Amino acid sequence: MVVESQPAVGSVRPPGDLNPRRDPALDFPDADFGELSAADYQVLGFMSGLEVHQQLITRSKLFCRCPAGRFVEEYDAEVLRHMRPTLSELGEYDGTALMEFKTKKEIVYQLERGSVCTYEMDDTPPFEVDDEAVRIAIEISLLLNLNLVAELHVMRKQYLDGSIPTGFQRTAMVGLSGVIPFRVPELGVNRELRIRQLSLEEDSCREISDIGHRITFRTDRLGMPLTETVTEPDLLTPLELQAAGRLLARVARATGKVRRGSGAARQDVNVSVAGGRRIEIKGVDNHKGLPPLVHIEAFRQLNLLRVKAELERRGVTGEMLFVPDGGRPWEVSPNVFDASTALQPCDFAPIHDSLQRGEKVIAVRLPGLGGLLNHRTQPGVSFAREFADRIRVIACPVHRPFMMHSDLRDYGLDPRQWRILQKQLKAESGDAMMVVWAPETDAATAVREIFIRAHDALKGVPAETRQAYRDGTNGFERILPGPDRMYPDTDTPPLPIPDSAVIEVRAGLPETPWVREERYRDLGIDDAAARRLAAADWADLFDELALAAGDGARRLAAALEKRIPHQRRQGRLTSLPEAERLRPLVRAAETGAIRPEAFELALDELIEDREAPPDKVLSTFCPGTEDRAELESAIAEVLNRPDAPVGKPGDVIVRWAMGQLMRRFIGRVDAQAVKGRLVEALQTAATEVEG
Ligand SMILES: [Zn+2]
Repeated sequence: MVVESQPAVGSVRPPGDLNPRRDPALDFPDADFGELSAADYQVLGFMSGLEVHQQLITRSKLFCRCPAGRFVEEYDAEVLRHMRPTLSELGEYDGTALMEFKTKKEIVYQLERGSVCTYEMDDTPPFEVDDEAVRIAIEISLLLNLNLVAELHVMRKQYLDGSIPTGFQRTAMVGLSGVIPFRVPELGVNRELRIRQLSLEEDSCREISDIGHRITFRTDRLGMPLTETVTEPDLLTPLELQAAGRLLARVARATGKVRRGSGAARQDVNVSVAGGRRIEIKGVDNHKGLPPLVHIEAFRQLNLLRVKAELERRGVTGEMLFVPDGGRPWEVSPNVFDASTALQPCDFAPIHDSLQRGEKVIAVRLPGLGGLLNHRTQPGVSFAREFADRIRVIACPVHRPFMMHSDLRDYGLDPRQWRILQKQLKAESGDAMMVVWAPETDAATAVREIFIRAHDALKGVPAETRQAYRDGTNGFERILPGPDRMYPDTDTPPLPIPDSAVIEVRAGLPETPWVREERYRDLGIDDAAARRLAAADWADLFDELALAAGDGARRLAAALEKRIPHQRRQGRLTSLPEAERLRPLVRAAETGAIRPEAFELALDELIEDREAPPDKVLSTFCPGTEDRAELESAIAEVLNRPDAPVGKPGDVIVRWAMGQLMRRFIGRVDAQAVKGRLVEALQTAATEVEG
C-alpha cells in the first residue's frame, strides 16, 4: 500500500543527523534553564553547533549592482508567484518542496525601483560576483584559520519557502576546516573550536506578512552579501553555544566590514540530545536568547523520546496511524469522521462560526495516543502543539483556533458531543481524538498532517527545521531539506582567487579577539578583565589611551569598565568620549599629578561635561600650593556648620566631616592627611572648651 503519510524523505536522509549516542536519559527530570551543570548536559548527551549569517558592508549586492543595505518602506510594484515543486537533478521530489507545495501559498513580492533589478526576479543572469564581498569573506576566513579554496564555485542551494524568487540561493564556499582558540574562563573552557566552513551567500527577502495562503515579501534585502560560518557540533552546554556565538561575532566585527543592528547577524542553531536528532532552529538574531532556547529544545527532544517509549510500551505501530492515499481522508479512513452535520448546532463559537462559513469540522481518532497529547514538551507547551504547529504551517488555516483534542475535555465541545464523536470513530479509552475545522481542502491537508505527525511520534524526534519564539520555546517551521539540495550554478564560471588578493588581505588583517586578550594580559590585566575588555566596545578607546597609561593600564581598564556602563545607564553617554579628551587625565595619573582615588571622579566629570576643557576639569582634582591653607579654612567651616553632629561621639563627627571634606579635596589632598588635620582641629577645639 502506498502511504502518503510516510514521505520518502525519512528514508533518504543520511544518518548523520542523529545524535551519536542512542541511549536517551529518559529518567532525567525536566529542569528549567539555569538549573543544570555541564555534567548534567553530558548525561543528556547535549550537542550543539552554530551557523552564523552575517551581512557584510558592501556598496552592491552580491550578484547584481543594486545597492546593498538600502531598506525601504514603500514599493513601486507587486509580483505574484505560485510555488511548484520541480524534480531535483536526481529525479526526486525533495520533501521540503512537497511540503511547500502542500501549503498552496501565493507569494507576493514587493519591489522598489532603487533596491531591486531584474536579476533578483530571475529575469536576467547574475553579474560578476561582488569583489568587495569576496575580500571580506577571505578576511573573515583567514581570521578563523580556515583553508581558503583556490576557486570560488557558485552553487545553488534550494530555498523553497518563497523568500528567494528563484527558489534557490547562490552560495560559494570560501574557506573550510579551521580551528580557533576557544577560551571562556568563567565556564572553565580552554580548548579549540572547530569551524567547518565559511561561505559567501545572498540574503533572502524580508517577510512582511504571512496570513492564510498568502505570504508577502519585500525584496530590498534580497541578494545582499552574507557570510555563513558553520561550526562543528562542539558546543556541549547552552552557555558554551552562547560564548561561541559571541566569539564568532567578535571575529567578524574585528574586520569593521560587517553590518550591525537588528537582523544584520542571524543564527541558526543545531541541537540534539542522546537518542534524538539534530534539529535546526532558525533565525535567532541575538545571543542572549540562545541558551534557554537550546536548553528547552534539549528537553523537547527528551520528552518526544518519552512519548515514543510510551507508545512502544502500548504497542502502537505505524500501521495504526495512517490514512490511505487518495480521496478525502474522511472518505477513506474509519479513523476520520466528517462531523460537520453531527455537531450542528454547536455552542462553541469557533466551530459555530466555521460551520457558518460553510467549512468542514473533522474528527480524528488516534489509536493509543490517549493522555499523551497533554504530555509536556516545552515550558507551558504540550505534545498537542506539535500537531497544531504542523497544521498551522502546512494547512494554513486563516481562523484561530482551528483544532482541539480529547485530552482537554473541558475545552470546546460538551460531553454529549464528545460521546457522538467517540461512537462514530469507535474510539476506546486509550485513544485520543482531535477535531479540526477549516475550509474543506485545508481540513483534508490538516487531517493528513495529523497522521504524519502521529506517525513521526514513533520515531521520537522528526527531522525538521524549527523557528524560535520570543518566550524561548520553538515551533515547527518546515521539513528538513533533503541531502540533494545543493547543485552547481551553471550561470557562473569558477572564479579563481588570485594569490595577490590573499596576500593583500592578509597584510591588512585586524587583530583577533584571542590575540587582543593576550595583549591585555601582557599589560598586567587579569584574565577575566582582559576578556571583558577585548569584548567591550570601548576596547579601541582603551588602546588609544594605553600608551599614555603606562603602568596604569589596569586602572584605566577598570575605570572604563565601571564608569562607561554607569554613565550609559544614567543616559549621559550616547557616544564614547574621544581619546584626546581623556588623555590628559590618563597622563596625569601616570605621572602622579593626580591622585589615584580621583581618577574615576575626574573621568566622570570629563564624560558628563563634554564642553569643559579637560585641563580645567583636571585642575579641580590636582594638588595645588593653596590646598593646605584651603583645607584649614574648610575644616573650620565644616565643623561650624549648623548641621554638624555636635555632641556626638568623636568618631561620628570625624566620619561625617570626612564625607563633607573629601568631596572637595579628593585627589588634591591625601585622605589620611585630611583625617589627621581634622582630628587635630577637633582636639584643639575640645581643649579650648575645657580651658
Ligand atoms: Zn539587482
